[in-house]
Amino acid sequence: MERVQVLIVGAGPVGAFAAYSLSLAGIDVRLVEAASHCHEDMRASTIHPPTLDMLAEVGLLDALEAQGLRAPIYQYRNRRTNEVLSFDLTELGDISNYPYRLQCEQFKLARLATSRIADLVKFDEKLVYCEDDGNAVNVICERRLDVTRYRADYVVAADGANSLIRKLLGVQFEGFTYPEKFLTLSTTYPIEKHFENLEKVAYVADRDEWCVLLRVPDFWRVLVPASPDLLDKYLLSDANKNKVFAGLLGVDGEAIKTSHRTIYRVHQRVAQKYNHGRIILAGDAAHLNNPLGGFGMNSGIHDAWNLVDKLKRILNDGQEAEPLLALYNRQRRQIMNEVIQAQTITNHDDMVDADRQQEKLAKVLADPEKRRNYLLQQSMYQSRAREAEIA
Ligand SMILES: Cc1cc2nc3c(=O)[nH]c(=O)nc-3n(C[C@H](O)[C@H](O)[C@H](O)COP(=O)(O)OP(=O)(O)OC[C@H]3O[C@@H](n4cnc5c(N)ncnc54)[C@H](O)[C@@H]3O)c2cc1C
Repeated sequence: MERVQVLIVGAGPVGAFAAYSLSLAGIDVRLVEAASHCHEDMRASTIHPPTLDMLAEVGLLDALEAQGLRAPIYQYRNRRTNEVLSFDLTELGDISNYPYRLQCEQFKLARLATSRIADLVKFDEKLVYCEDDGNAVNVICERRLDVTRYRADYVVAADGANSLIRKLLGVQFEGFTYPEKFLTLSTTYPIEKHFENLEKVAYVADRDEWCVLLRVPDFWRVLVPASPDLLDKYLLSDANKNKVFAGLLGVDGEAIKTSHRTIYRVHQRVAQKYNHGRIILAGDAAHLNNPLGGFGMNSGIHDAWNLVDKLKRILNDGQEAEPLLALYNRQRRQIMNEVIQAQTITNHDDMVDADRQQEKLAKVLADPEKRRNYLLQQSMYQSRAREAEIA
């Protein structure tokens, strides 16, 4: 049995960031991850300015910037009319040290953070059971044919959307699942040849087939909705890939090679409560939202930022745990419900109504005050300010 102060479960971007940040504060932390390495999945690739502030503060930003691309401008485009509205984050240069989105795949962050604390990370170790006995949390993990046991003052469940810990706790995960699936394709094909002034982040609205075009250092990533009536096997096939690219770019899709093709189900869900005695939920284990706006991982890192501060106050300064963890729950859950869920649902609705989106956002863009508010909202500065007001 290994005795630790904090056991983090899941080496996705949220768990890795939390474990690394706690280790910097001198807290005895372990990170267990079921897989043999950080998953190289093609999900998050946008990191917003307030998250860049956090990464800078813990000394991860420079190394991550070297693996990403700066995107100061993001666009809303109408697929039928080709109208383009561009929002420029450098307008927030007066309040932000990093007035741009960093386009960088999430596994690069997870890898970087875990590499800095390699001796504290246990890959191939899967949590199978945990129980809070009031004084500490007893944890059982499987490691190949072995069993390892921990006794931790606190457990952070960063074990993702299908969180076993959330299920063991019996926590409701309220919300809904979108009927359509989301298909992501990555390609080195120069998509920018087919669009005038295409920026590194573009939301292309359309009633029938909206899409998101995201540039990361080695690829273009294309995200399109896919019919729930079609089998994943077909959606991932060459025939479907050719159809998507032919429709989007007006070229023979056969000529376009892809490096990744992935199907996702997308949900809007929030756990009923994040703090459960000594076990605390964070990241996708606590909340899910659609990827339009790039808020899922960023929100998870904001959870970790808040929670690390509370755990430092409990473990290093001897402050009372229960009120601090209850505050974490109030702050992060309220932001998720009031801001992130609402914004992502609106972002999705706008993508299927291109004319409404263009009309609404053209007015925002033309009015300096509305434009600044919009930039503050979509860059997540507004939710950071709101969180600080929640007592
Ligand atoms: C198509 C798509 C695009 C997206 N784009 C963006 C974006 O641009 N910006 C953004 O902010 N968000 C985006 N997201 C959301 C983002 O990917 C997630 O919010 C993010 O991965 C959550 O990180 P996490 O660390 O909480 O969970 P995960 O990344 O899911 O990591 C959980 C980890 O826990 C491990 N684990 C699970 N169970 C156990 C166990 N029992 N024991 C040990 N380990 C376990 C898993 O192996 C995994 O490594 C996108 C999502 C999708 C689907």
